[in-house]
Amino acid sequence: MTRRLTLQKGVIYGPVDSRRLGRSLGINLSPVSYKICSFNCVYCHYGWNKYLKSDLSDYVKDLPPVARVEEELENVIKAMPEPPEYITFSGNGEPTLHPDFEQVVDAVIDVKKRTGVDARLAILSNSTALDDESVVRALGKLDVRIMKLDAGTDEVLKRINGPAAGITVDGIVKGLKRLDEITLQSVFVDGEVSNAGDEDVEAWLGRVEEVKPTYAQVYSLENVPAMSTLVGVPMGRLNEIARRVKQRIGVEARTY
Ligand code: SF4
Repeated sequence: MTRRLTLQKGVIYGPVDSRRLGRSLGINLSPVSYKICSFNCVYCHYGWNKYLKSDLSDYVKDLPPVARVEEELENVIKAMPEPPEYITFSGNGEPTLHPDFEQVVDAVIDVKKRTGVDARLAILSNSTALDDESVVRALGKLDVRIMKLDAGTDEVLKRINGPAAGITVDGIVKGLKRLDEITLQSVFVDGEVSNAGDEDVEAWLGRVEEVKPTYAQVYSLENVPAMSTLVGVPMGRLNEIARRVKQRIGVEARTY
């Protein structure tokens, strides 16, 4: 854990060597000059939110239009000496909050076809926009859906993820159950606030059981968190949590 990351400066970034996805070209659908997200996670490596929103319709002027994403992605791919293994929606905030998310996904699929690039399409999502039919449809067109779930109760959700108004664990779980073949990504932290105690992990396991992911990723701090007093959860404890996922739910869980 060495540094606080700065916001991505463009729509297409990388390729980055991702621990989870190999050589991945990133797509950032969020503003480049400020942070806006439907969560305000204590561990966010981009720092605290300037705006806590689940509706970005007032911020459209700062979001990349579909045609720009399509054009920039095509240009970058054509200029790459080696194709990426993954093209990943991630970036400075939550990609599914982009009001034209499904159209962006369709445009990216078109770019893949036109350029012949053999990369898998992935997303890192905070799972907060799954009440939107078009978002669920768009996610179904991707190859890999890595969806966040750090909390089993609303109290932990508030403590760890600082959600925008109206977002609840019940709502997130209901949304996740609408998706096929998801990888769950869960961050555990300790220090000033924690979700790594037995009671919180037990509640989280119950939710994982409801969601039935195909795979789970369990990890702790990777970069300097927004809340500077946080500490990472030791690998031994992460491994124990992963073992409990396997024992109780029969789902493979990997620690990072
Ligand atoms: S969901 Fe992601 S971008 Fe949003 S605050 Fe949490 S860690 Fe940061």
